[in-house]
Amino acid sequence: MKGMQQVLENGSSILDHVPFPMILTASDATVLWWSKEAERTFGFTADEIVGKFYPFFEENRSAIHKSTWSQVVQSENPIRFENFIIHSKHGKAVHVSAVLNSMTIDNEQCVMFLFEVNNVPTMDQTSSTQELASFKMGIDETFMLTYLDPDGLITYANTLFLKTSKWTPKRIIGKSFWQLFPEESAEKSVNPIWYTLNSNRVWQGSVEKLTKDGETYWVDMTAIPVLATNDEPMYFAILEKDITDKKRLQLHLEQIAYVDSETGLMNRHRLENIVSGLIAEERHFSFIFLDIDKFYTLRDMHDEESETTLLLEFAKRLKMYFQDSDIARVGEDEFVVLTPLSDWFIQGFLSYLKQHPIYIRNKAIPISISGGITRYPEDQSTFLHMMRASSATIHKVKQEGGGNIVSLSKANHVALSRKAMIEKRLIEALHHKDLTVMYQPQVDLKTGRIDAVEALVRWEDAVLGTVTPNDLIPVAEETGMIHDIGSFMLEKACEQAALWAKNGKPMKVSVNSSIREFRDKNMVKQVRQTLEKFGCPAHLLQIEITEKFALEAESEQSIIRQMHQLQSEGIRFVLDDFGTGYASFRYMQMLPITELKIDQSFIASITKQEKLQKLVHGMIQFGKSMEIRVLAEGVETKEQQDLLTKLGCDAIQGFYISHPVSAGEIENL
Ligand code: C2E
Ligand code: CA
Ligand code: CA
Repeated sequence: MKGMQQVLENGSSILDHVPFPMILTASDATVLWWSKEAERTFGFTADEIVGKFYPFFEENRSAIHKSTWSQVVQSENPIRFENFIIHSKHGKAVHVSAVLNSMTIDNEQCVMFLFEVNNVPTMDQTSSTQELASFKMGIDETFMLTYLDPDGLITYANTLFLKTSKWTPKRIIGKSFWQLFPEESAEKSVNPIWYTLNSNRVWQGSVEKLTKDGETYWVDMTAIPVLATNDEPMYFAILEKDITDKKRLQLHLEQIAYVDSETGLMNRHRLENIVSGLIAEERHFSFIFLDIDKFYTLRDMHDEESETTLLLEFAKRLKMYFQDSDIARVGEDEFVVLTPLSDWFIQGFLSYLKQHPIYIRNKAIPISISGGITRYPEDQSTFLHMMRASSATIHKVKQEGGGNIVSLSKANHVALSRKAMIEKRLIEALHHKDLTVMYQPQVDLKTGRIDAVEALVRWEDAVLGTVTPNDLIPVAEETGMIHDIGSFMLEKACEQAALWAKNGKPMKVSVNSSIREFRDKNMVKQVRQTLEKFGCPAHLLQIEITEKFALEAESEQSIIRQMHQLQSEGIRFVLDDFGTGYASFRYMQMLPITELKIDQSFIASITKQEKLQKLVHGMIQFGKSMEIRVLAEGVETKEQQDLLTKLGCDAIQGFYISHPVSAGEIENL
């Protein structure tokens, strides 16, 4: 009811100036609002009548029946009652016709009465004309006022209207009122107003209009149909009040909230609203997420001013290429385009960018972008999921070198949900210690004996089936569960190494480690405690790190310190996947590495490609020069083994010796 009160308060200031009696009742006919003109016509003041029941239904006194009333309340269209009598406060019979319009205001069912007084008013003629004259003056001074004929052509416009709209009376009379609206607002405002008026109802709201010079102004408008006795509109009265200043402020606030101030594109909040709107309407569309490759490098090479130019020019190209699409800036160098267009058109933006390079200080800047296309409803069904899926796709594109716009295909989609499943099931697997360890032997080529094994994680899940380490490790690294896998593997390896040593067959055990585990300050302590727990000699434990790890570790002093500490206690470090990253003399000198493993990708075709042989030979010599033992991974044939022996390799690991097997099977070998 509080909202209703407000509606009435706002409404009454305007409606009180309407030159015919108007009242608003609740669905039980108690009066809610009573216009000034109703006061004058029926004698009751608003204070006397509001909250009371106006005696329409008294058999002997009124024309509206109880049965008719319920029809009025239920009707969707206004109902007109011709020539009936209402008694005024002083008992006078007032002959009226009325349009009764049932409506809901703020969830309350109400009925609006618009009266036409048919009999000559019984009060004396002169005072009534005088009163009407003063109303008209009051309106003239406060509102822009126009009258329209039933076709919507202007028949009268007051001074205030002419002043604001900048029209002259000569030009405006006879012009269609609807021509004064901006073209694009036809659907949004003109049609609803016109429809409401032609349904004999009052329209109220704020609209955008144009002056004669095409400038925009905003008004609060009340459009009132004035009906003849035959129910046809006689004319329409339009009352308007200029609210341009208020609207400007509001637009400005909206801009702050919704527009990216640097590029003028919409911001993330607005995008989210639009996407939710499209989803609510079940409209099919593609959500394109674009990211400028190496933006930070580009930025560092130039200055802030050229950064702004770059962004503006990029936004301009987006707008040119994706005309009529919604385009948003959602991050420093991240953009989203919503479009129903096909993938090939979207991908065409890459060549468009090449054909229209961005110039900074007369130099064309080579820009490459990575993008992901997520479709609604096929791929994802909420804004948040689209954003997430996009960053996963972009991540993949960037890893493959960027410069591509890729759509989230069904296959990727399945992979994404499998990833989510792995994450969920892994928590349980760790809890139940469902992971197992397999060992793959390494043979020393000089002695021909197995002197070490690599511990590899295995996971057989009841729901997911076999989950390979290549699927498992990335998820574990992303979620932090790699710590739990790491300590599980460490325990198993130490336990096993201690057991073999106790049985008189000492064997080094190698475990794989990710850099995340080493960022943990307790790493050294944890390794030490695990060795102690199983009584495992430190020299039997090897830790494998990848080249990528080494590169990152190089810049992190605490990691280097931890590695040296462990090395001083006898633990050996092995550089894994050698040759796939950025081999650097620097980290080889900084990190305590005693062995390197040439990646299996070099070994696979080594007997067929002379170039590879030379490369591997170089790697082996490099190791020798640094006094580092060299092992070749992925050896599958005798030819490969012979060749590697000839090249001076120290050790090999691979299917030719054995697949990864259980600890028991290692003993048989
Ligand atoms: P990696 O450390 O390079 O391990 C060697 C991989 O090559 C193993 O795959 C092994 O089964 C496979 N392999 C061994 N010999 C041959 C061969 O002759 N030919 C071919 N084609 N492949 C061979 P797996 O077990 O699937 O492991 C894949 C990767 O997952 C490992 O690569 C390692 O980076 C990671 N990983 C495995 N277990 C762990 C673990 O416990 N912790 C961590 N952090 N990573 C692990
Ligand atoms: Ca390894
Ligand atoms: Ca490897």
